[in-house]
Order: sequence, then structure tokens, then C-alpha cells
Amino acid sequence: MTETRRKRILSGMRSTGRLHLGNFVGALENWVKMQGEYENFHLVADWHVLTTDAESVREILPNTLEMVRDWLAAGIDPAASPMFRQSQIKEHAELHLIFSMLITQARLERNPTLKEQIRDLRDKLKARELDEPQEGEVSDAGLITYGHLGYPVLQAADILLYKGDVVPVGEDQLPHVEITREIARRFNRYYGDVFLEPEPHVLAETKFSRLPGPDGRRMSKSLGNTIYLSDSEEETGRRIMSMFTDPQKVRKHDPGRPEICNVFTYHEKFNPEEAPQIEKDCRSGALGCVACKKNCTAKLNAYLRPMRERRAQYDDRRVLEVLADGETRARAVATETMREVHEAMRVG
Ligand code: SF4
Repeated sequence: MTETRRKRILSGMRSTGRLHLGNFVGALENWVKMQGEYENFHLVADWHVLTTDAESVREILPNTLEMVRDWLAAGIDPAASPMFRQSQIKEHAELHLIFSMLITQARLERNPTLKEQIRDLRDKLKARELDEPQEGEVSDAGLITYGHLGYPVLQAADILLYKGDVVPVGEDQLPHVEITREIARRFNRYYGDVFLEPEPHVLAETKFSRLPGPDGRRMSKSLGNTIYLSDSEEETGRRIMSMFTDPQKVRKHDPGRPEICNVFTYHEKFNPEEAPQIEKDCRSGALGCVACKKNCTAKLNAYLRPMRERRAQYDDRRVLEVLADGETRARAVATETMREVHEAMRVG
């Protein structure tokens, strides 16, 4: 009887430090859910950080440790799902180099996410110009590095090195998966069948995918409106109590509109059993915002408590042990893939 292997998923994040509730709802929660169904490989994309923050490398390791601590806190089982740093497995660099010969500059310039990167770079440049005036207008070509252009090529190497069958992505990342598939096709056509074309698994947009921060805008580190998984219960309470609600509900017994209230979105996500009653009581004016926020704080803290307890079990030494173990397992797969690549190409 032939044993069928479970489908493999490669998912990763850039080393950005502590994760917030928006990161959890938008990605990490799905990773946890997919653990039973797929074989998961979780990549810390620490080289990818260099494309936008090449000058601040000192933060990469501490940010990596904080982020992986949150992965573990959320419930990723390191025994089942290897977690590893891209920079510790040099095969990523070799495969990236080979792949960079299989795609044209014009194709990469058509990649829609490049435009976003250029926009972000211009914002950064503008912020810097406030301190030190720059001379003249800088063209797009003068702004982007070789690494920016090749970002999706390195991503293709990340995915194909582990022969990922499925890549979980948001809609905006679909063009990168398409580039990965094109590179896999071209490699196979030139040298023989080594790579599968991975399928994108588009993470369904739900009303929680873009979880609002306390100010009502999408939760984001750059906007300073985050609730971190690792915040204390008191800090979480302060953030919830500062949340925007329905501006028409001024007094306790004023009828409210839960559909425009952030606190209610949090109840729906983190307190779904009580949400229908809260909705009713808000509309009728039976429930006041202060009591509603206190209840929301209690429920959110109860939801996060097991994560915070798990997080406390992982100091830097233990996180580094988890990474070292994941890197050994990931390296074994990467080395085998590169052996196939060398054999197919008769180079290397
Ligand atoms: S009672 Fe709750 S759901 Fe209604 S407006 Fe106030 S905080 Fe929002």
C-alpha cells in the first residue's frame, strides 16, 4: 500500500517583532487551524526584511525571537511544524540565484506589489527629507534595489525549496504565487521535472480579516493602534476602554448601533456566544458602553490568557532551541531538493 503524504504548506512572515491581534486574526489563527490538515513549514523571512530595512539589522534577531514566541503562544506546535529562519538555510540563496536567471526584468517590473513597495519607499524618503533635504526628484529606478525587484524570486525559492503544495495568501499576494508557478514551469521545461506548481490558498476575507484597532482604523504597528498578544491584561483593558463606539450613544440608555461599533466587532469575534444578546441590548438602550467595554475586556483577556501563559514558558534560549530544531528539519528537506536541482541541471 502506498503512503500518501499530507499536502505541505509553506507560510512565513517577515521578522517584525511582537504580533498584534490583527496579525493573529489575519494569518496566525489560520496557521493554527491548518495544523491538523496539512504538513506545515513556517518560515521566518529575515532576509526579506533587508529589502525595506537594510540599515536596521540590529533589530532582526530580537524581532525574530519575539515573533516566534507569539507563534508558539498562539498554539503552533513546534514538534509538528518546523519553524526556521531563512538566513540559516543557505540553500534559499542558491535557489534564488538560479531562479533569477529564469525570469525577466520586465516580468518582475510588471509585478503589482512592486508599485506598493515604491510607494512605501517614497513615504520613507519623504519622512527623511524632513530632517535632511535631498536634491531633486529620485526616479523609481533610482529608488528600488536589485533586492526589491527580486523579492518574489526569493519568495519562489522559499516555497519551492520545500515543495509546498499550497501557499496561504491574501488576494494581494496572488501575483507572487503566479510568479512562483511560472518559475517552476520554466525550470521543469529547461531541466526536467523537479518542482510542483503550488496552489494558492486564498485566505477568505471575513469582516474580521482587517480587525480595527481602538481608533477604528485597520490595526497596524505604523498607526500605533495595536493590541499585542503579549500586552498585559491591564494594558488590554486600557485599549478597549479607549475604543470608539457609536457617537450617537451618548448616555447609557440611548439606543446604539452595534454595526458601526468597534467594541461590538470584538464581541462578535472573541465573545460570539453573548454577541446576539449584546446586539439586542445595545439597540434597545438596555446596555451602556462602559459595561459593554468592561465585558469585552474580560472576554478578550480570557481568550488571550492561555496564549500569554504559553508565551511566558518561552524565554530566548527556548525559542532559539525551537528554531535550531526546525532548521535541522527544514535543512534536510532543502538539501534534498537542491540535490535534485543539481542532478537535473548537471551543475553544482
Ligand atoms: S453598548 Fe456596546 S455595542 Fe453598543 S455602542 Fe456601546 S460599546 Fe458599542
